[in-house]
Amino acid sequence: MVKPTQKPKSTHTEGEFELIGRFADVLGTDLPPEIVVGIGDDCAVARRGDDFDVYTTDTMVDGVHFRRGQIPWFDLGWKSVAVNLSDIAAMGARPLHCLVTVGVPGHVASDDLAEVYRGMAAVTAEHGGTVVGGDVVRASELFITVSAIGTLSGASGGGGGDGGKDSLPLLLRSGARPGDVVAVTGDVGSAAGGLKALGERLAGGREALVDRLHRPTPRVAAGKALVAAGVRCAIDISDGLVSDLGHICDASAVSAVVRLPDIPVSPLLKEIYPDEWVELSLSGGEDYELLFVASAELIEGLRDAVDVPVTVIGRISESTDAPDVSFLSEDGRPVHIDAGGWDHLKQ
Ligand SMILES: [Mg+2]
Repeated sequence: MVKPTQKPKSTHTEGEFELIGRFADVLGTDLPPEIVVGIGDDCAVARRGDDFDVYTTDTMVDGVHFRRGQIPWFDLGWKSVAVNLSDIAAMGARPLHCLVTVGVPGHVASDDLAEVYRGMAAVTAEHGGTVVGGDVVRASELFITVSAIGTLSGASGGGGGDGGKDSLPLLLRSGARPGDVVAVTGDVGSAAGGLKALGERLAGGREALVDRLHRPTPRVAAGKALVAAGVRCAIDISDGLVSDLGHICDASAVSAVVRLPDIPVSPLLKEIYPDEWVELSLSGGEDYELLFVASAELIEGLRDAVDVPVTVIGRISESTDAPDVSFLSEDGRPVHIDAGGWDHLKQ
């Protein structure tokens, strides 16, 4: 037996994104030819003739992503599927099928679990997809893993291209170009406000913020409209605006400048958290809005085709040193923001 000379790295200190990178290295880059997007976007993508299938999976664990007793059972089911539909929306695709694995401690009542599945059925009825199978296992902690498949017609996107990855009719993190503008659907920060409100007395509109946290709207219709209009770059805001825009910049090898006063924030969030709403809107995750990048003219022209408000918040520039996200105040001065997103593994 070889005695380890170095203490192995713990997953607690490495963080989610470092781990994903490390696992991608282990698996290698030798992907089957039909896989046009592998690890590193909201979904993996397989070409099927002229069409594309997209694959994603997400897990919610009691004590990490939610607390049993705080989130209604129905909402737990809704959210566990909604976050997967959101990743499909972030590719511009249409949800098809979901597989669900639930890990159940012995003391959870079957009536409560049935309510979880009612929430799943409600979100698929509204936003697409069907739960077609899965597994139920005994576990020490309650968890739900959903794997979802979506599809996108190769003919659904406007514009052609030279046949490379960047010309695919999909919303990819790697599609941002210098001179493009950055836009977001809906508003941001309310889900983080809801998480903060959970520790307080639920009054004065806090319930509405908690609803945004527990029953997010996957922007499936908006994602399809974006890709049809010719947008080629998006991510869904799960980790937080700063963090997720950072993912686009990293994947596209560009930088972004965001004008703080242009970030859309609900009046309710500003009213309840007058001192914290800026930070909540920048680094709070789980809004599941779409953050996307395209030319200013393209974005101006697509507003009527998208079923939620679209707000331009910034601009993409060439990255001189390394990809980076910076901020400007109302009068155009640089503002230093130390706002990391949510990393599920780092503690
Ligand atoms: Mg995502």
